[in-house]
Amino acid sequence: MIPLVDLTAQYHSIKDEIDAAVLATLESGHFILGPQVTKFEESVASYLGVRHAVGLASGTDALVIAMRALNIGAGDEVIIPAYTFFATAGAVMTVGATPVFVDIDPQSYQIDVMKIRQAITPKTKAIIPVHLYGHPAEMDPILEIARERKLKVIEDNAQGFGAEYKGKKTATFGDIGSLSFFPTKNLGAFGDAGMAVTNDAALAERMRMLRTHGWKKKYYSEELGYNSRIDALQAAILQVKLPHTDSWNRKRRELAHRYSEKLASKLVVPVEREWGKHVYHLYIARSAKREALQAFLKQRGIASEVYYPLPPHLSIPCRKFGYKEGDFPHAEQASRETFALPLYPELTHTQQDEIIAAVLDAERVA
Ligand SMILES: *Cc1c(COP(=O)(O)O)cnc(C)c1O
Repeated sequence: MIPLVDLTAQYHSIKDEIDAAVLATLESGHFILGPQVTKFEESVASYLGVRHAVGLASGTDALVIAMRALNIGAGDEVIIPAYTFFATAGAVMTVGATPVFVDIDPQSYQIDVMKIRQAITPKTKAIIPVHLYGHPAEMDPILEIARERKLKVIEDNAQGFGAEYKGKKTATFGDIGSLSFFPTKNLGAFGDAGMAVTNDAALAERMRMLRTHGWKKKYYSEELGYNSRIDALQAAILQVKLPHTDSWNRKRRELAHRYSEKLASKLVVPVEREWGKHVYHLYIARSAKREALQAFLKQRGIASEVYYPLPPHLSIPCRKFGYKEGDFPHAEQASRETFALPLYPELTHTQQDEIIAAVLDAERVA
């Protein structure tokens, strides 16, 4: 069986380093915040080229806390792409704001920057581009619209760790960038973990307050906050993994290019815009015969998965906003036709050749 991702393969490739870091943390007695968390925050800030990093419990919390720090809440609208993981929409609703969806560019799967302006109303407070699948969203037009209409920008960089737009790391363009270290992400912890990054010292300070019950001074809550910190244990693990990320992303890119070269005649393969560096969190292909293809791959012992079968605007929690099928045709078509093939840095060429052969065979039988 070839899985979609193999987390144990990565662990075994750096087991001694990870085990030592875990044991050292257990011996340190620091489990909530403390030196290990500070060190990892500094390392990520320096890797991305951003001034401040605030370690949080998850990527979802990073979005929620970013919006709270920017004073986004009830009565506000936030523009997000119509095709993304539900958490982007869910976080907007969690702070009491309303998500306003914008359809995607069907080739890059990123928010269609030509359709953002028409979604802006007097209530719009922010835009959250999502660097979906590890391909950057087109930041220049987004930042220009935001400047012109005085909107905040939060980059949902959960899937784009290490990706670049015009040579600069994603998550560093907007007011705040949110990161997820969910185990399957390009930089993944051994549990939930997240982070928010910013160049604005006041926003960083506000997010540090929000992650610990709204405290500046211990036990003196100044506003309603959360209990949302990255675990010291996860920070220690991620500290070990961070220096490997570039080589893992290179491996992802190499494997993705290999897939595309061999499958472009049979499937719609992912694009990489000339201004972007794709880090292939997921290798997403497209076929009108997706279901038959997936069933065939399964028979051959090859996993595949749909990200995502339901665009957020058609989800139950979003029903109250009155969206209906047909509102965002490109997002909806992507949800019917796209699927991910196995991709992780430890996938071998032998395994990949087996997957490629199966896809080509499947096309023959279908
Ligand atoms: C994974 C993900 C999140 C949420 O991250 P968690 O750490 O799982 O809370 C948010 N947005 C996108 C696009 C994601 O892929």
